[in-house]
Amino acid sequence: MATLRPVTAQPAAASTLLEEKFQTLLATVRVNRPQDDLSIIQKAYEFSLQHHAGQQRASGEPYVLHPLEVAQVLAEIKLDSTAIAAGLLHDAVEDTPVTSQEIATLFGEQVAHIVNGVTKIDKIQFANREDRQAENVRKMLLAMVTDVRVVLIKLADRLHNMRTLQHLAADRQEAIARETLDIYAPLAHRLGMGKVRGELEDLAFRYVDPIAYEQVRAAVEARREAGEEFLRRIDATLHEKLTEHGIAGRIEWRIKRLYSIYQKLQDQRITVDQVYDLLAVRVITTSVQDCYAVFGLIHSLWPPVPGRIKDFIAMPRPNLYQSLHTTVMADGGHQFEVQIRTEEMHRTAEEGIAAHWKYKAGGSPVSAKDEQRLAWVRQIVEWQREMTDPNEFLSTLKIDLYPEEVYTFTPKGKVVVLPKDASPVDFAYAIHTEVGNTCTGAKVNGRMVPLKTRLRNGDIVEINTQNGHTPSRDWLNFAKSSRARNKIKHWLNEHQRERAIEIGRKLLDREARKYKVSLSKFNEADYLRAAAEYGLGTVHDLLAAIGFGKYSARQTLNKLAPGATTPAGGAEAATSPMSDAVKRVYFSKGSESLTVEGHDELLVYRARCCNPIRGEEIIGYVTRGKGVAVHARNCPNVQNLLYEADRRISVEWARMPETDGQGHRATYPVNLTVFCDDRAGMLKELTAVISDDGTNIRGVDTKAGTGAEAVVEFIVDAYDVRHLTRLVSGLRRLPGVRDVQRQQKL
Ligand code: MN
Repeated sequence: MATLRPVTAQPAAASTLLEEKFQTLLATVRVNRPQDDLSIIQKAYEFSLQHHAGQQRASGEPYVLHPLEVAQVLAEIKLDSTAIAAGLLHDAVEDTPVTSQEIATLFGEQVAHIVNGVTKIDKIQFANREDRQAENVRKMLLAMVTDVRVVLIKLADRLHNMRTLQHLAADRQEAIARETLDIYAPLAHRLGMGKVRGELEDLAFRYVDPIAYEQVRAAVEARREAGEEFLRRIDATLHEKLTEHGIAGRIEWRIKRLYSIYQKLQDQRITVDQVYDLLAVRVITTSVQDCYAVFGLIHSLWPPVPGRIKDFIAMPRPNLYQSLHTTVMADGGHQFEVQIRTEEMHRTAEEGIAAHWKYKAGGSPVSAKDEQRLAWVRQIVEWQREMTDPNEFLSTLKIDLYPEEVYTFTPKGKVVVLPKDASPVDFAYAIHTEVGNTCTGAKVNGRMVPLKTRLRNGDIVEINTQNGHTPSRDWLNFAKSSRARNKIKHWLNEHQRERAIEIGRKLLDREARKYKVSLSKFNEADYLRAAAEYGLGTVHDLLAAIGFGKYSARQTLNKLAPGATTPAGGAEAATSPMSDAVKRVYFSKGSESLTVEGHDELLVYRARCCNPIRGEEIIGYVTRGKGVAVHARNCPNVQNLLYEADRRISVEWARMPETDGQGHRATYPVNLTVFCDDRAGMLKELTAVISDDGTNIRGVDTKAGTGAEAVVEFIVDAYDVRHLTRLVSGLRRLPGVRDVQRQQKL
């Protein structure tokens, strides 16, 4: 922490620079917000100057330059003087001895609330960096729901930090740039702030992947001159055409941003030499009608590239972005992208939520559009209550911030916007939670499809439901939207918990009978005391923990009645009673629910990462709160998971073949990927090999591979390792099959 020094301690040159910056700030506010009161800004600046005095940025410049630059960004996006004052004070509570109370007294509750929202949570509360990051983001979003200026200041803060990132150490640069790409740029995108997003992305790109950045930059530079020359000619032609048709409008052109070019390379898996549309033209008109007129004119000049026309005017993006997009082909095979929009749409695209931001007294938005923009934040905040793991919250948020989306329709023509690669399950949950929970199948464009089908733009989706049908854990393998994922997890947790409480009660009861302890002599307070010893708050939490295998019934009984389970002279093992015991895993209902013998009521499941099947060497691991995960011994995760030896639990497959109640032999779904020649009849032959062996095929998916290679994915029901090995070698013997791989993840 820097010590405080009087204002006059600033060197003369620095204070001249600061004074100039401050005058620029005031001038910007005078132009953008002529009605606003400048005195609060003046006061906030002086306060900031005084309290950050003597502190320096990594660049060696006086610290107060940073809040000044942040305030300047806020003034430029036309935010009010309250926000600008808060911007000037944003680091005061975090980095100086100033308290939130002082800010409230001097600048009012609103400013204090905003500064408080921007201030990070005290570092010492967290075990690791990830948890801290997650909690800070969570705090920011919570504060943002009541006052969106919190996030606008965070974005301005991040923007200035990114602009001055060169002064930090390399590892800090990368971490900050990564966080910017993961959270802040997508956040700006969701709020419709295209300009801020663009700058954040390009600034972060060079630190996150310096090699790719340099390649793209060099490739763009090599084409810049020719590209600009080309665009000038396009501009002239277009200008003439607009004048000829009496359409008022202005034309902008540019070479696309480096990060957006890079994303295109990634998506299309091409090299920078293969990118055609580096060039972009924008026509900004005065009316929607003119937008469509210009659209027609452009296509009369240059033919459109198929599949690249998008009408975001009729169908705005979730962040309210509107524009017509098309890519056209000019002479010599040059492609370029055209965006057409009104001035109003342009402002919305560049500034988003900041474009027309007005406040009611409490800082909440007044326009319906702004409300709509914030609706998703409210959703996230609502969901996060169901999430206890901060990292789960962060990964959910990242999915939700992921900018790409697919537009699908209900049979009645209502648009449902989903994240890219969403499935009918996502669609079902977007309609209604109940529809999601009870969905059994789907029709896409009139055809029955599997629930894991990836939806595409324009798909018409119809969901079949059945009363009493319940969500499956498998859905988490393909559900993409955070809404669906959260609802599924929530359902599973609730139901598993109910079951676990039930099981916990039974286990405790059995243990009590075994040691002749009468449970009826304990009252609720006794249970709560035992629960508290494990750090649990309720009796149900305690019973659930026993049911999930987190604590043994015997340990718990000992807490209730100390000494009850220790026979005279007998030594109770200090280690977990489950360790070193050999347990048998056998089939109960459905391949998802396995049980450990001896602890037959424990929740046991096959680990998602390796999906072990009967016959493979396996090992059990008591997870935190989810029961026992059974991994294949060669699963790469096992080494990472098993560092806590007392959570390890030996398991083995039961000797008898597993059967369900009706005597059917248990099978395990296994995902096989076949790489083979792309020739007629290949699929038929593959299928024949599998079904000749009496194997059930659950699903088939073909993908075009590279060149003459085809990739076929099968989900087959295998009985055990021997069956699977036989199947794989059968497939390998087939002429034209190059390789068969078992995908461990279903
Ligand atoms: Mn800051």
